[in-house]
Amino acid sequence: GYAGIDAGGTLIKIAYGRGTAAAENEQSGGVSASMPILVKFPTAEIDAAVAWVRRRVPRDTVIGFTGGQAQRLRDLLPEYMASAVGIPEFEATAEGAVRILEAEKEAGEAGTASERFVLVNVGTGTSLHMIEGAERPRLGGIGLGGGTIVGLTGLLCGMRDYGEIARLAPLGDREAVDLTVGQIYAPAVPPIAGDLTAANFARPVPPASGARPQDYAAAVIGMVAEIVVTVGVQAAGLQGTNRVVYVGSSYENNALLRELTLRFTHMLGAAAQIPKQGPYSGAIGALHLA
Ligand code: ADP
Repeated sequence: GYAGIDAGGTLIKIAYGRGTAAAENEQSGGVSASMPILVKFPTAEIDAAVAWVRRRVPRDTVIGFTGGQAQRLRDLLPEYMASAVGIPEFEATAEGAVRILEAEKEAGEAGTASERFVLVNVGTGTSLHMIEGAERPRLGGIGLGGGTIVGLTGLLCGMRDYGEIARLAPLGDREAVDLTVGQIYAPAVPPIAGDLTAANFARPVPPASGARPQDYAAAVIGMVAEIVVTVGVQAAGLQGTNRVVYVGSSYENNALLRELTLRFTHMLGAAAQIPKQGPYSGAIGALHLA
């Protein structure tokens, strides 16, 4: 059998079992006979990931390891090393994204798996790739990503729990924190949409009650979405495509980031996709390249 493990800076993602091997699916929701078992653990709890592998994955399994913490995890799983394979992170992410899109296409969820596109992986940080058949060059990266959402919201208001941030952000008011085009032009009518951000975190007079944690969370997620989308769509334009696919765990259970990413991408004239299994692109890629 085969498995892929993407040990990232924040989360360890595991994909186990190719094709029909998976009859169950612990965390990914949709149970599909053609998808592997998908599970994740915080990198801070690496021992839990080690215990899961020891319990569930037979010793003779070929495991593809990828991600920044791969070597550390490998050192904790010596009994699997005889058949272990190291997979470069960017190859794994790209391969996984292509496989996920193909699976969605077969399931009738999206119709354009083979088309060229820019892949934006919003993990702890963000990296961009061009996907054109077997050619998958990395285009670059930015340090704004899911880690910024957790880190900056934590610095601003002490809220550091990812689940809490993602849950509260949709209830927040960005205008308590950001300066909008409408605010700059008021009372005149602005030449572009008034709710566009003129300057992130630049609201001149804070609201009397002060910004609430959910307002900071919304503003941080808004800033990350705006920059990630701007960079992604501009990269796509330079590459001669208008299709942008977003993956990475930052989209997991984060309704505001998903919504803003889709909305901004469309606003800038490109087509956006956020595949459900995008958080597992590295792990699924490592599984298939192992
Ligand atoms: P990496 O491979 O660098 O670990 P991921 O693609 O796993 O990156 O994305 C990490 C980001 O996903 C975090 O910065 C956070 O914004 C978000 N995230 C999603 N689920 C969780 C979780 N359970 N715990 C912490 N962060 C999470």
